[in-house]
Amino acid sequence: MNTLLIVGSANADHVLAFSTLPKPGETLMSQQYRLELGGKGANQAVAAARLKTPKQQVEFICALGDDGNARLMRDAWQSDGVILSGCYDIAGQDTGTAMIFVSEKGENSIGVVAGANACLTPAHIVQQQRLFDLASYLLIQLETPIDTVATALRLAKQHDCTTILNPAPAAALPSELLSLVDIITPNETEAQALTGITVTDTHSAALAANKLHQYGIGTVITTLGSQGAYVSVQTDSERYNQLIAAFPVTAIDTVAAGDTFNGALMVALDEGLSMIEAVSFANQASAIAVTRHGAQRGIPYRAEL
Ligand code: ADP
Repeated sequence: MNTLLIVGSANADHVLAFSTLPKPGETLMSQQYRLELGGKGANQAVAAARLKTPKQQVEFICALGDDGNARLMRDAWQSDGVILSGCYDIAGQDTGTAMIFVSEKGENSIGVVAGANACLTPAHIVQQQRLFDLASYLLIQLETPIDTVATALRLAKQHDCTTILNPAPAAALPSELLSLVDIITPNETEAQALTGITVTDTHSAALAANKLHQYGIGTVITTLGSQGAYVSVQTDSERYNQLIAAFPVTAIDTVAAGDTFNGALMVALDEGLSMIEAVSFANQASAIAVTRHGAQRGIPYRAEL
């Protein structure tokens, strides 16, 4: 059994739907309210669990509050087959919460309260050494404290585990942290925050990728929304770049598109697909996700691809 390890956040998403997003200072009546299970880490764990083969298992390290949302999440993730031996309940904390505005055009605007996610410490990560020893891949994002992210990346490297960093939400990062990353998966905004280069197309994605390669990151996959994903590989054994076009679909809700992409990518790489095949698999999975409402609710199962 191959172990896929995800470390990250879990959020209860309060979703309000509008025809157009409210502008600063504007109050609009929403046409619909839903409570969705989200958070980048949890979305990626659910994506991996729904898309994995029977030979893979998915472990998720996270911190939850002591509230009803935490119990709701545990039940939902367990029914998807996510293993929660590294999931902590933090006394006196609320589970992370996000307020998400979505428009009819598929745009979104998101505000997040970290809650228990901010309480996932380096010590929690170190307590889970066993999982790092087992895991072939670590997938991590930036919705938990940066010291925790750095500790997880360091531990993964010590255990010969391939590291995938989804650098979301957008932030500039220290070079020491970037040097621990094997595969990085920014979207356009995140690529710009990391490199200072405005990324809109393959030309600018290539410039940004070259900057990220200079930190020692072998593979840069820049997701470009409806354009697909631009892969740039510069390792000792391989050098190439290629745009893998997105699947043509009508997007209705792009929440969790990137998370589905990352979970799928990890599954496919661990299965032994080539980088290009794995990105194509990830494009397929996220194309299905954008045709559905919701964060975890919209993530497809393997049989649907
Ligand atoms: P994020 O959700 O992190 O902002 P992107 O918007 O770049 O990330 O989307 C991630 C992936 O989801 C894309 O690389 C693509 O495969 C898929 N995707 C996103 N939007 C669309 C769309 N409108 N049509 C088809 N695929 C899409």
